[in-house]
This record gives sequence, structure tokens and C-alpha cells, in this order.
Amino acid sequence: MQALVLEKKGELSLRDIDLPQEVGPDDVKIAIDTVGVCGSDVHYYTHGAIGSFVVREPMVLGHEAAGTIIAIGANVKNLKVGDRVCMEPGVPNMNSRATKLGIYNVDPDVRFWATPPIHGVLTPEVVHPAAFTYKLPDNVSFAEGAMVEPFAVGLQAATRARITPGDVAVVIGCGPIGIMTALAALAGGCARVYISDLSAPKLAIAGQYAGIHPVNITERKLADVIAEETEGWGADVVFEASGSPRAYDGIFDIVRPGGTLVLIGMPVETTKFDVAAAIIKEARIETVFRYANNFDRAVNLIASGKVDLKPLISETFDFARSIEAFDRAAKGLPDDVKLQIKLRG
Ligand SMILES: [Zn+2]
Repeated sequence: MQALVLEKKGELSLRDIDLPQEVGPDDVKIAIDTVGVCGSDVHYYTHGAIGSFVVREPMVLGHEAAGTIIAIGANVKNLKVGDRVCMEPGVPNMNSRATKLGIYNVDPDVRFWATPPIHGVLTPEVVHPAAFTYKLPDNVSFAEGAMVEPFAVGLQAATRARITPGDVAVVIGCGPIGIMTALAALAGGCARVYISDLSAPKLAIAGQYAGIHPVNITERKLADVIAEETEGWGADVVFEASGSPRAYDGIFDIVRPGGTLVLIGMPVETTKFDVAAAIIKEARIETVFRYANNFDRAVNLIASGKVDLKPLISETFDFARSIEAFDRAAKGLPDDVKLQIKLRG
């Protein structure tokens, strides 16, 4: 089977590789249509590792995918051949304590696509458990289906925030996850969301959405803007989606007393924050690692028309041009939000 293989740090090839094709009784086989290029895929390409996950042998990339069912196992009742679907890339141990608690995203045994040593899905056919495969309604395209995975991170963040209708939120960082968190916060009931970054083109893309207010921190201090916009009270919820250690300098200045800080962006280095400032405001701190039980919610919101992710798809590459897509993503162009690879014509 052809696949986009990360041979080692800095080296990609489009070549044949042996991948499991046997459909177990609870599995489905999917003909992959569209795969999104994620920051984590690019990071494995450019750095060869994320934290303790190190690429030691060739690995197929890609984990944001949608396609069509081409075979089902004997026990599968909820899906049939021909269904258009998207897939949740992390498969936990179904007998684990974390899975029993419903927090399968933090199961230490989770097998997650394109996280070493597990292969990803930039390949024409993939076998996956039916329990982690979600039917797409007719009005949701494959391109949108491949956006469900990053949008589910935004929904996990909005869920962790426990938004009350009318809340004012701030999102620090205007990358794909930042923008999708802002959209999830609005869908979850926030009245308005301020999003900050230093990249004017990224802020302009986010600012196309009603309810999202861009703040360019090369022009104004975020804390000044939030103080002005909230009569000095602060935001009900602050989402940190940049992963920059510098974002934590004075971060509690923008959280209202009794407000919430949600940590999404994962800093590469050990990061400090002001504990006293958090305590004085009795701020609640939440963390987000991927998602659990949010894929169906993401699909529902997209299908409802309340959330339109299509403006975030910057360009689509044919499978044959996969390496070009990754080289483009590695450049981190300011106008690019999400690049996608299409495997079928
Ligand atoms: Zn991703």
C-alpha cells in the first residue's frame, strides 16, 4: 500500500509499506478521501520527536481524516459499506481504568495515529474500530470531516471551561487550534471572544467570523484591551492556545476574579506561571489533552451550520504532492491555517 512515510527526521517519502489490512469483527475498513496536515505531523517531520515520543523507525503520517466505508466486521451494526465517515485517531484500551471513567484520552495505553510507533492514515485504505468511526451527514463534506479532529480539541476546551451563556472569553494564539477553540467557545454560549496573536494575516482570518475580535499584540497589550472591554473586570474564560511560555507572563491579569484559565497549547520547555496571582483571584485552571466524547458533537455542530470551518482550509494538495504539502506547512506561512491532502479524485 502506498503511504506518506516519515523515514526519519527531515526525510519523507511516498512509497509502498506493509500496513495491517485485516478487518476484525468490530472494525471497519475505510477508503481515505481527505487528510488534514496537523502541526504535530509537521513537528515529527522537522524535529523527529514531540516530548518523549521519538520517531525511531519509519512511520506513516496523518491523523485528521475522512473517507468512505468499504468493508465492515461481522459485529458492526451502526455503519455500512458506502457510509461517509470521519475517524477518531486515538484508540484506547477498552478495559482500562481511564476508559471506564470516560477519560479515554488520558489512557496510558492509547494508540494514536501518527504518534510513534503507531502509523497514521496518509494511505488509501485504513482499518479502524467502528466504535471510533463517525458517520458524516450528507451536508458535511470530506474536507469538513477531516476538520472534525482539530475542532474536537476546541470542543474539549469549551467543555472544560464550563461556559455559562453570555461569558466573555479570550483565546491566546491564532493558529488552527486557537481559531477552532474560539468557534467552539461561541458555539458553547460565549457572547464574544477576543483572540490575540502577532500575525496580522492570521488575525484577519479569525476576524471574518462574527463574534471573534482580533487583538494584535504588536500594536496593543492584550491586558489593556481586555481591561477596556470588560470595565476592568477581566474575561470569564481565558484559553491559552499558543503554547508559548511568554503567554503566561501576567496571564491572570486578564482572568476575572473567580474566572477560568484553560491550558491547551503545549509548551516545549518547562513553563512558569504566577501562582499567587492565580490564588488571589481564586482562578480555576483546567487542562486539555486531545478530546474524549466530542467527535459526535463536532459533527453535529458542523452539520447544523452553526460552525463553518471551510474558510480555514487554505489549500488542498493531491496525494502525489503530499511531500510538497508538508514542506509548505513546515514554512508556516502567515496566510495558511489548514492544508489538506486529497487521496481520491
Ligand atoms: Zn491534529
